[in-house]
Amino acid sequence: MPLEPAPLQRRAATRRRWACPTCDGVKLAPERARKDDTRTYCLPCSEKSGRLVKRVCEVAEARRSKQKEKATERAKRAKIKAREGYIVAGFDFERELARLWRHPAVKTARRNSGRATPKLHIRRGAAPTRSYCGLAHYSRWEIRLLTWPGRTVGDLLGTLLHEVVHMVGVRNHGPAFGRTLAMLAEAIYGIDAWSGVHERRGDWRGVQSILDAQLEVRFPGADRVIDETTTAAAG
Ligand SMILES: [Zn+2]
Ligand SMILES: [Zn+2]
Repeated sequence: MPLEPAPLQRRAATRRRWACPTCDGVKLAPERARKDDTRTYCLPCSEKSGRLVKRVCEVAEARRSKQKEKATERAKRAKIKAREGYIVAGFDFERELARLWRHPAVKTARRNSGRATPKLHIRRGAAPTRSYCGLAHYSRWEIRLLTWPGRTVGDLLGTLLHEVVHMVGVRNHGPAFGRTLAMLAEAIYGIDAWSGVHERRGDWRGVQSILDAQLEVRFPGADRVIDETTTAAAG
C-alpha cells in the first residue's frame, strides 16, 4: 500500500502588531506581510482622510530605530577617534592644515585654487623610517605625516608646510620649491628662512632646516617632543 504523502506543511508566520499612526487601532499581521495586505493599512482612517493610511509594524520599527541609534553611536565614536588622530603632542594638525589652506599667502601660491583642503593622515611610528617623514599624495588629495617618539611638533609643522607647498602645485624640489617654502614660512609664521641660504639659492633643504629650527623656537608649543608610540588612530 503506497504511503500517503505527508501534507505540505508551511510554518505560519508569527503575527505582529501593526499600529495605526493616527488612531489607536491595531491589527495582527506577519512582519513581512505583502505590500497590498489590507491588514497593513488602517481602513477607517484611510476612509476618513481620503488617502491610504499605512500601519507601522511595531517590532520592525523598534528594531530599525535601535539600529539607527547604534549607527549614530558608531559614527560618533569614529569621529572622535579620527579627531584624536589629528592631535599630536596636544597640537591639532588638522586645524593647522585648514588654517594654512585658507591663508591668503597659500591662496596666492595655489595653482589649483578651487580645490578643497587636502585630507590629512597621520601615522604614528615607533621609529623614524628612511622612506618618508611626510608625503603629498596627489591622486588621493591627501597629506601624510609620520610621527615618532622624539620628533618635535615644530619639526612636524615644518613637514606639514613642506607638503602644503607640494599641494599648491610645486611638485618637484626645484628652485621654485625653496622659494615658495620660504615665502610661505615668512607670510604664515614670520620666519625668514631665505636670507641664511643666499649662497645656496634655490636649495630647499637649507630653507627647510632653518624653518624647522625656527618653528621650534618661535611657534608656541612647537618645542614639545612627541612621545606617542601608538600606531592606532587616524589609520
Ligand atoms: Zn487608524
Ligand atoms: Zn617634498
